[in-house]
Amino acid sequence: MGEGFAWSVPLIMIAFGVLFLAARRAGAAPESRLWGIGFLLSALAFAVPALEGVLPIQLVALSADTLFAVSFFCFARSIVTRYQTPALPRVRAALLVIGIAAPAYAVLVLVDLPSELFASDITCALQLGFALATVRRWPKRWIDRGLLAISWGVVIENLGRTASVPLTVAGAPPSAFLGTEYSQLMYMNGLLTGLGFAVLALLAVMSDVVDGHRKDALIDPLTGLLNRRGLEAVAALAPARRSDGVIVCDLDHFKQVNDTWGHHVGDRVLIAFAELMRAAVETVGVASRTGGEEFVLYLTASTPRRTRAVAENLRLAMSRFDWPSTGIDGAQTASFGVTIRAPAEPLEDALRRADRSVYEAKRNGRDRIEDDAADRTAASIHA
Ligand code: GH3
Ligand code: MG
Ligand code: MG
Repeated sequence: MGEGFAWSVPLIMIAFGVLFLAARRAGAAPESRLWGIGFLLSALAFAVPALEGVLPIQLVALSADTLFAVSFFCFARSIVTRYQTPALPRVRAALLVIGIAAPAYAVLVLVDLPSELFASDITCALQLGFALATVRRWPKRWIDRGLLAISWGVVIENLGRTASVPLTVAGAPPSAFLGTEYSQLMYMNGLLTGLGFAVLALLAVMSDVVDGHRKDALIDPLTGLLNRRGLEAVAALAPARRSDGVIVCDLDHFKQVNDTWGHHVGDRVLIAFAELMRAAVETVGVASRTGGEEFVLYLTASTPRRTRAVAENLRLAMSRFDWPSTGIDGAQTASFGVTIRAPAEPLEDALRRADRSVYEAKRNGRDRIEDDAADRTAASIHA
């Protein structure tokens, strides 16, 4: 086996270890740290045999086996964390202890390389295999399916290599490790499955980060409702021949709430209103916060009557709500503008129309609903 080749395995694993730790710092899921530590420990385990000439062979063998055991413990924990399988900490700790003790017994007492490799491979496979076996639901995303599949591949590869022990190392002492066909097989497989394992795990945690950012871009952080872009994304999905209901809501004299009770209380009022909006649309549409104290309810496949009824229900729910629980004295009201977005009409146009109705509602005394029924009637008379 070429020196360069043997070194390439730990170097690649170090690179992945560092990438995982960096991903964690960049906000990737907590298990990224475990993956990172696992790959760094694996890198050390693959590198330790090179110190054979410098350190006593028992020490080299013991360190390599222990490092592998702990790295598989980390991989198993990463799977458990990612797929929220039962933690079973005692079982996992026991498997780790066996994974360290069994190879140590083979090295120190039996002084037998085949037994050592056998003990190490089987116990590593057991740690990871046990974690995988506790994954209850097959994940939806292909990256996660791939990750589970390749993890099983690592388990099978470990077991397969164990089966090769009688052929590849028969009767050799621990000091003969690097010269054996077994070690070549191990580095070659380490490079192939280890690389696939690392790439898929990294893709999985990175795709979470990307999904998270994509979601953040569409959600208003204060209320958890869709933001303007989120609303546009939903509206863009409307089939070309469908009419949707649009309700623009603007809280009344909201500036006074901030001025009187403070911005913090103002935020609580916004959050409470968002909750009422969510309840108002439930399954018939989506609620969004399009500006400071401006909100839009978007009702899929709605009629003017149904849309107006939703607005009326929301106004009623506001009048019944326990507003003092948010910190204000008295009730918060809102003005509503209701319209129908015609099939294939740009959302902007419908919003502008509803905004005009909100303005009407404000002019007519607030805490009320205006729609453009008069405009529509006029339009149909002219048509
Ligand atoms: P009107 O009845 O005419 O709508 O009066 P208004 O006071 O509600 O309208 P105006 O547009 O004058 O004031 C809106 C206020 O909304 C001003 C701003 O401080 C407040 N606001 C906007 N975004 C937030 C927010 O995220 N949190 C809080 N607490 N206040 C906000
Ligand atoms: Mg406003
Ligand atoms: Mg307002």
